Amino acid sequence: MLPEPELDDLYRDIILDHYRQPRNRGKLPKADLSGEGYNPLCGDEVTLQLIVDNGKVRQVMFEGRGCSISQASTSMMTEIIKGKTIAEVREMIELFKAMMTKDQPAAPELGDLEALEGVRKFPVRVKCATLAWNVLQDILKEVKSKK
Ligand code: ZN
Repeated sequence: MLPEPELDDLYRDIILDHYRQPRNRGKLPKADLSGEGYNPLCGDEVTLQLIVDNGKVRQVMFEGRGCSISQASTSMMTEIIKGKTIAEVREMIELFKAMMTKDQPAAPELGDLEALEGVRKFPVRVKCATLAWNVLQDILKEVKSKK
């Protein structure tokens, strides 16, 4: 696992809080959508499970291991997408990726995820932060093809 990048204290606290007490961590007995991702650069792993009901993310859980950036990003992501429509979730993915890869400032909709903005100064770590988001984007492609 790669060492922790130097981030502002406030952001670091938010990231470590999610890393130590991940939200929505665990396994669902049954899921509508699931997928997993691996970041070989750092050794991060993430498995995502979603229950989609009436076009909304009703439930989301994750399992994973790896660095604080990858696991905190996943934890924050599950918090922010729960209850949102698939269209809204897709928009969150766009906003988050724009922040991480296109130097766009954090959109207010991203909430605590703003804490990861500083990670883009460490290009090798961007893959840690975006791992779960790529998994999410991938599994949502199934939603389109099912309709
Ligand atoms: Zn990592």
